[in-house]
Amino acid sequence: MLDLKMYINGEWRDSRSGEKRDIINPANGEVIAQAAEGTVEDAKEAIQVAKDTFESGVWSDLPAEERASYLYKIADKIEENAEELARLEVMDNGKPLREAEFDMADAAACFRYYAGLINKPEGVTYQVSDPVQSIVVKEPIGVCGLIVPWNYPMLMTVWKVAPALAAGNTIVYKPSEITPVTPTKLFEMMEEVGIPKGVVNMVMGPGATVGNAIAESHDVDLVSFTGGTVTGRKIMQAATGNIKKLSLELGGKSPNIIFADADFEVAVDYALFGIFCGTGQVCAAGSRILVEESIYDKFVDRFVERAKKIKVGPGLDPETEMGPLVSEQHMEKVLGYIESGKEEGAKLVCGGNRITENGLDKGYFVEPTVFVDVTPDMKIVREEIFGPVVVIQKFKDEQDAIRIANDTDYGLAGAVFTQDGAKALRVIKKVRAGITWVNTFHNTYNEAPWGGYKQSGTGRALGTWGLDTYQETKQININLEVEPIGWFKN
Ligand code: NAD
Repeated sequence: MLDLKMYINGEWRDSRSGEKRDIINPANGEVIAQAAEGTVEDAKEAIQVAKDTFESGVWSDLPAEERASYLYKIADKIEENAEELARLEVMDNGKPLREAEFDMADAAACFRYYAGLINKPEGVTYQVSDPVQSIVVKEPIGVCGLIVPWNYPMLMTVWKVAPALAAGNTIVYKPSEITPVTPTKLFEMMEEVGIPKGVVNMVMGPGATVGNAIAESHDVDLVSFTGGTVTGRKIMQAATGNIKKLSLELGGKSPNIIFADADFEVAVDYALFGIFCGTGQVCAAGSRILVEESIYDKFVDRFVERAKKIKVGPGLDPETEMGPLVSEQHMEKVLGYIESGKEEGAKLVCGGNRITENGLDKGYFVEPTVFVDVTPDMKIVREEIFGPVVVIQKFKDEQDAIRIANDTDYGLAGAVFTQDGAKALRVIKKVRAGITWVNTFHNTYNEAPWGGYKQSGTGRALGTWGLDTYQETKQININLEVEPIGWFKN
């Protein structure tokens, strides 16, 4: 059994309250670890440490190249331990091993990307009319509060920690209270490579107390949050006290638009991948499939035929294609959405049940679930379910597809399947979302900006945009002719 502690000022600590939380394997309900259940006081201490450490300059004053060298070492460590990390991710989150292996490779690559980016020139010089040299420099923001969800415990952490560290900030980080295992390993690795004490601090515990303490602290200069839109709204409110910088990566209800001229089997294949990969617990999941009416019935038949064949099971079983939901509580929430779909009159054409056969009764498994005959006001059409539940809607033409696609409060992602290149571009340009795909789904690159329109958030992760999130911009104006200005005569 793992005993997970918080990491504050270079020390591994239990919570001040002494309380622990059981960390559950969602494939079988077994306790795999006990984690310190942090308190507001723990969070406040970590924030003070991060503030003092930032002001000491021990990290922010290091030459960028030296900071980069630490980041490269962390990437190496992730790679060296990738097998163990991937297995732990599966035991904590439930995802199939293959998905966890991708996550670890992406995590190492993300550290390398930001290590490579930080020592590239990025200042700007302006020609101005005065005898002044005007230059613009980037500086770290200060103390960064980083709060992440449970669906990609390692990767979401790295998307924040790597650019924040590269830019020279200090960190107070909080994992999801239900998936702290691989984040703890990451902090162990950061200690091993010699990141100075006080630069990276990890507190654990509930969002409403520990997370909120980070969001409202006047000593935290930026909060970078990934999680649900409801929580994002609370964080935005808590952050007003000191006008914190905010980066919010929130939920989605992303449309996947399939035209009759698409390669049919390719479209079905990606539509399955779009929703059922990660058991639907992916912010960019294609949870609304929009299909042109002339191929609608054929598409639904084929999609359901294949969805029924998806192998659901424990993530460590090499045969498994889709794992359990992350927790019993989340499974109940997803099953509740399925009930609401039925009650509101949608037609269930696939799945809809918890799976308890073949030794899966102790885990939180739900069948791939498909609804048709939905109306735009139904909860299953409007709200993010974050599970293996999809609605398939019919559209008449391009304009109709765009209208349905944009009929949502969210704007994270969207996809179009067609063999007509001009149509693809016409439609995707009209989809109000930050991440879009044509004839593909879920591609994510360290180089490309990640983030949403509308209530899917504000700011962008990854790429140069992701580094910018963790930097302030300063103008420096240097007088080249040092004489009195003479504005006042006497
Ligand atoms: P959540 O919002 O419940 O929790 C996320 C984190 O916020 C957790 O660490 C939690 O402890 C903390 N938290 C909760 N209440 C808080 C508060 N009042 N103040 C401060 N922190 C608080 O989300 P979740 O259920 O863990 O994750 C699922 C959500 O994450 C989905 O909505 C999904 O779309 C979203 N997500 C978005 C992206 C993206 O890139 N846009 C990526 C992954 C997940």
